[in-house]
Amino acid sequence: MPERQGLEALPGLLLPWYRAHARRLPWRDSPTPYAVLVSEIMLQQTRVEAALPYFERFMAELPDFEALAGADEAQLLKLWQGLGYYSRARNLQKAAQLVVQRHGGQLPADLRALRALPGVGDYTAGAVASIAFGLPAAAVDGNVLRVFARLLCSGESLSSPAFKKEVARRVEGLMPKGQEGDFTQALMELGATVCLPNGRPLCEACPVRELCGAACEGRQQELPVRQEKKARRREQKAVLLLCAGELTALRRRPDRGLLAGLWEPVTLPGTPDEAQVRRAVEEMGGAVRQLVPLPAAKHVFTHVEWHMTGWRVELESARGLDPSLVWTTERQRREQYAVPSAYRAYLKPSRRR
Ligand code: SF4
Repeated sequence: MPERQGLEALPGLLLPWYRAHARRLPWRDSPTPYAVLVSEIMLQQTRVEAALPYFERFMAELPDFEALAGADEAQLLKLWQGLGYYSRARNLQKAAQLVVQRHGGQLPADLRALRALPGVGDYTAGAVASIAFGLPAAAVDGNVLRVFARLLCSGESLSSPAFKKEVARRVEGLMPKGQEGDFTQALMELGATVCLPNGRPLCEACPVRELCGAACEGRQQELPVRQEKKARRREQKAVLLLCAGELTALRRRPDRGLLAGLWEPVTLPGTPDEAQVRRAVEEMGGAVRQLVPLPAAKHVFTHVEWHMTGWRVELESARGLDPSLVWTTERQRREQYAVPSAYRAYLKPSRRR
């Protein structure tokens, strides 16, 4: 990797820009270790704007490690409903339980101890260590890697462990004493608001343009090099809204795997036609009064796409069907059952008010 001059000027250019332009975010106003950890876990796979209302609700209901450690699963999943990647919520609770048991309810100001918490990887540990405790620890995510690939005019793949290590080393070397947390957040902010992905960096507005190798060589549109994306698996399924009067059936997903433990309507694999849906429901023990086709829908996860057809199945009664089904009112679904947003087209997931 070619050594570029002048990156040591980065903090001096970046920090004043950050202080003048940073978005006001609740976890920045009050960066308690708990708030920083919750926000960083939420932001792992979610945009800031989308995470904001979730963060505020979460903090209002579960304001500290003790409250989170003792929350019941239904409350936790309900608070996370719509954010996706629910293992984050479960790991966050396990982390809170460890913090209560091992650290007296206080997050440890130690990088290794942070890294040992469930769901806390190098990035999150570095972010919490620097923002909450002022430790000189790098937090290198996709945004920071992209910024450095451009600053260094590097053609390295962002998925290269060696490049990530190199960027972490540089970030730690540049961290100004006493401003570690602001420096971490300033780099994130630059990647999120100015040095944007997909060949769209706003270089005219960039505070570090004079240091940027890619801008200097006119290569900011082509860097970082594109990575080949693995094709997603495609799953076809039919969503059956089994309805008996005002009640709709839900079942609980398995404890492991995608959307573990969440609630969903009954589904069938493939694209069954009306006769096949009727037969399948009758085999489940249901007496069909009416079948109404619903619009097709699609939901994209990281590694899989669901392509769904839908049927509203009006039954004579809820009796005779699988006893593991729960029959829910709209209000119960809103208040008690976490239904993944993948089913939004069929069962609008509602949030707690
Ligand atoms: Fe990114 Fe452009 Fe700034 Fe370089 S000058 S860091 S490419 S926004």
